[in-house]
Amino acid sequence: MDCVVALDVGGTTMKGGFVAQDGTILHFEQRATPRAEGPGRVIAEISAFVSELSRPRAGLRPLAVGLAVPGLVTETHAVFSAAFGWRDVPASAFTDVDLPVALGHDVRSAGEAELVYGGHSSGDVLFLPIGTGIAGAVVLSGSLYGGAGGWAGQIGHVPVWPDGLACGCGQRGCLAAYASGGALAARCGVASASEVARRVAEGDERAVQVWDEAVEALAAGLATYTLLLDPDTVVVGGGVSQAGDALLGPLRERLAARLTFRRPPELRASVLGARAGVLGAGSLGWRAASPAA
Ligand SMILES: [Zn+2]
Repeated sequence: MDCVVALDVGGTTMKGGFVAQDGTILHFEQRATPRAEGPGRVIAEISAFVSELSRPRAGLRPLAVGLAVPGLVTETHAVFSAAFGWRDVPASAFTDVDLPVALGHDVRSAGEAELVYGGHSSGDVLFLPIGTGIAGAVVLSGSLYGGAGGWAGQIGHVPVWPDGLACGCGQRGCLAAYASGGALAARCGVASASEVARRVAEGDERAVQVWDEAVEALAAGLATYTLLLDPDTVVVGGGVSQAGDALLGPLRERLAARLTFRRPPELRASVLGARAGVLGAGSLGWRAASPAA
């Protein structure tokens, strides 16, 4: 069966596998991203992972490689990533397998997978993965929008409270400083956002306050986005979205309350969940494969 090798490189894990053209994941495995060991090690580990995935396997014929990475990304270069500390890495540096390779932005390609495989009929969507950080894939009239330099969709660093909490990006009051999984955990002094959600369910006072501020920050950020770009739908993904209605319920109410004179966009959880990243890398791979297919 024809397939593509898909690799989604995240800050903590790399998720790789084979994706068929209809979005079926035929094989999946993940391994740790050696981020602490520097950009050279991460690039070498990506190359080794792609080589192993590309080995011949019974019944599968890989046609191309799709590689989704964070940061500022063009079709030919991983231009910059604060998380990995790399600059201007050409696509060819990530793999030496003899297949066409497509490089893309992790969140934008995951957003594309949501569009292609998530059954969305609308063409104006914000895909908002809330994981360790917060990013956004902006879809306008059915097309992913990267902006002039590839920076579009950085909704995590939109200031929601002037002079608010310091953010790792150097600004103050960013959405991510309140509502990212990393911020939720740090503000409660626990290891993960899921632990914060558990404490909220138990009525822990600090966790309830931190969660409440996160929802308020998200409502403020989404109100700004909605007023500027008028999306039909906002798809919330990433680890924090696993809180489900504990997040989306109050968020819907507060977004509607802020948008006094207009209808709010539909807010829904990602249907692809953890598969969005690898399916996004798969979409990149299939784009590289189609000229040859
Ligand atoms: Zn920031």
